[in-house]
Amino acid sequence: MYKNINITQISKSKINLLDLNRKKLKIFLMSLGAKSFSTQQIMHWMYNHYCDDFNKMLNISIKIRSKLYEQSIIFASKFIEERISFDGTIKWITSINDQKIETVYIPEKKRATLCVSSQIGCPLKCHFCATGQNNFQRNLKVSEIIAQIWQANKILKKKNIKNRITNIVFMGMGEPLLNLNNVVTAIQIILDEYGFGLSKRRITLSTSGIVPALDKLKHMIDVCLAISLHAPNDYIRNLIMPINKKYNINCVLNSAKKYLQYSHANRNGITIEYVMLDNINDSNNNAEELANLLKNIPSKINLIPWNSFLGSSFICSNMNRINIFANILRNKGFIVIIRKNRGQDINAACGQLTGKIVKYD
Ligand code: SAH
Ligand code: SF4
Repeated sequence: MYKNINITQISKSKINLLDLNRKKLKIFLMSLGAKSFSTQQIMHWMYNHYCDDFNKMLNISIKIRSKLYEQSIIFASKFIEERISFDGTIKWITSINDQKIETVYIPEKKRATLCVSSQIGCPLKCHFCATGQNNFQRNLKVSEIIAQIWQANKILKKKNIKNRITNIVFMGMGEPLLNLNNVVTAIQIILDEYGFGLSKRRITLSTSGIVPALDKLKHMIDVCLAISLHAPNDYIRNLIMPINKKYNINCVLNSAKKYLQYSHANRNGITIEYVMLDNINDSNNNAEELANLLKNIPSKINLIPWNSFLGSSFICSNMNRINIFANILRNKGFIVIIRKNRGQDINAACGQLTGKIVKYD
């Protein structure tokens, strides 16, 4: 009798509990007649046991469980593809109605970072970024952001990988500040002690600087902030990041400074990301300009060797140039980190995420 009913149709009318932060989950549960403490119990099942079956939640009454079953679902899209790099980096791909979401796991000695996506594609079209070269599809839902962490944790547990996720960076596909509300709700769940329980110092939101959203963000959530600056002046930034014509360097940095005043997560300053592009933004003069620009902003500078992708004519600055650039900044007192390229062989490095499944030999 039910044969023709499609499961996604059923779930569309149901609330996905992975879309709700603690406050909204509580309101929903109270509307079902549940006691307030059941919010924490259910979150514990979801985020500690990765349980998506109400029947297994034995400390919740049968009456509430059956109402939950009627009106809601716990649904985290599964990864359909996994690519493992020689350096241990893993890229996972989720497919929703043929649209692809990419998530990257980057293990290090004492920590492991999960790089999550916030949109499918990106409308900002920075010229040096593969994500921006494809059509923008849509914002991710909260549950689709959360599902990336949920499934990654589940797989790491199953594979018995000891290096569990300690840090989360919003540096995958998309511009998080163009999906402000969903990204903030997802971060609330990541921070919640009954959610993933990570500290605000272990979550980084990277943005190309959507100023009105950044101005709002300071009243919404406190996490580590990374600004994709990539140029020491508006002339160069206009050439490589079209969004600079709307929000120029001055207004982005002013907004970031204001965020700093409100933030405890950024006690040691914000991160400035600077992609190293041969002959475009990597001269000694550019380093001097950058130092001048940042002299009043508590910050550390991340120099990112540019990752190539098919169809792009940029060239990555050579290592000698990057070291000279870094040393000019260091001599002026800046903390400079040259970012290691991870997962390049599986197209999982910064700016290489396109949402396309590439076949490897
Ligand atoms: N949209 C956000 C977050 C995603 S991009 C932002 O732009 O900040 C994450 C980082 O990778 C950004 O600093 C971005 O500028 C950088 N990036 C993009 N393309 C890159 C490439 N091809 N090589 C190296 N870094 C790149
Ligand atoms: Fe979008 Fe960030 Fe890529 Fe620019 S660098 S196109 S903002 S994802």
